[in-house]
Amino acid sequence: MKLKFSLLCLILLIIVLSATSCIATSPITYDFFAMDTVCSVSAYDGMISEDAISEMADTVSNKVVSMITAQTGSSRIFAENDGETFLFDEQLTEAFADAELVRKLTNGAFDLAVAPLTDLWNIPSANEPPLSEDISKALDLINETDISFDGSAVSFALAGEGIDVGAICKGFLSSVMYDEFKNSGNNGILLNFGGNITLVGDKNGEPFSIGIKKPYGSSAFCYVKVSDCSVVTSGGYERYFEYNGIKYHHILDPRTGYPAESGLQSVTVICKDHIMADILSTACFVIGVDDSVNLIEQLSENYGILGCVFLTDDNSVIVLGEISKDFVLLDEGYSVEYK
Ligand code: AMP
Ligand code: MG
Repeated sequence: MKLKFSLLCLILLIIVLSATSCIATSPITYDFFAMDTVCSVSAYDGMISEDAISEMADTVSNKVVSMITAQTGSSRIFAENDGETFLFDEQLTEAFADAELVRKLTNGAFDLAVAPLTDLWNIPSANEPPLSEDISKALDLINETDISFDGSAVSFALAGEGIDVGAICKGFLSSVMYDEFKNSGNNGILLNFGGNITLVGDKNGEPFSIGIKKPYGSSAFCYVKVSDCSVVTSGGYERYFEYNGIKYHHILDPRTGYPAESGLQSVTVICKDHIMADILSTACFVIGVDDSVNLIEQLSENYGILGCVFLTDDNSVIVLGEISKDFVLLDEGYSVEYK
């Protein structure tokens, strides 16, 4: 399954690079593996050497991975004892604060405390869905009042409660790496962490063209022309297993205990805030188009959200926000609605 996932990431990487159709010169690219994901850093401005890129990328990713896994060695952090508390690095606590805001605004549809449920489903490694009584037990361990976040520490009231940073960890890595490259005066850098795209500046004075992939396919159905932001996609086709002809994907709805069914195949969020882009793509996938429109409206200004591209189950594309003017459809088989 890991191999299948790595292969998917590689295909996605190829799509993104081939969709960046106005590449004038070949970039210098450095590939690495972090957080179960194929990652790459590509520099288009010719100002930075391959050695400098690899050194910066390795240093930042090692730092971030150890930040995330500092206390338990895992990206899923479970309380083993009642009342257990975990302390986090300052940057990570800021990310948790953003996640907490979205949890509140989505009434718990997005919730890092989903760990007991994601652990039970164990997607994509599992072969069959869990028993409904086990789903109920896992849901009993997702309680707003049992997990508290005081700005520097997360504490859990009950053993077995926990947090799963899967929905934010790539965004967190890209945010820290973006700052590193930006603060060192770089421009024209594309970070691709398993399909989470982050752009440092522009591409030789022009926007980057970033393709959005067809689910299960190998080509892009559209692209957006953007600079200096993140383009993050969450899709049900990314990680899943099949049982009795039904696909069970990795984005779970803590309100039902089952994979989210919001009528979407994927959501892409284009946002200046790299962590919020990652949080929102997962959150919007769970809540669906209508509730996402409200959510995005509330956060748009503070977080620099440029827009979203929703792909529905029936291959309709809904484009929300100012990104509409920089959206290009590649496949006429898809209908587009602008909101
Ligand atoms: P992403 O690929 O960014 O959409 O993140 C998906 C990951 O987020 C999953 O693999 C889980 O680790 C985690 N996750 C799944 N469902 C939720 C949810 N409802 N709220 C927060 N995190 C979730
Ligand atoms: Mg996410």
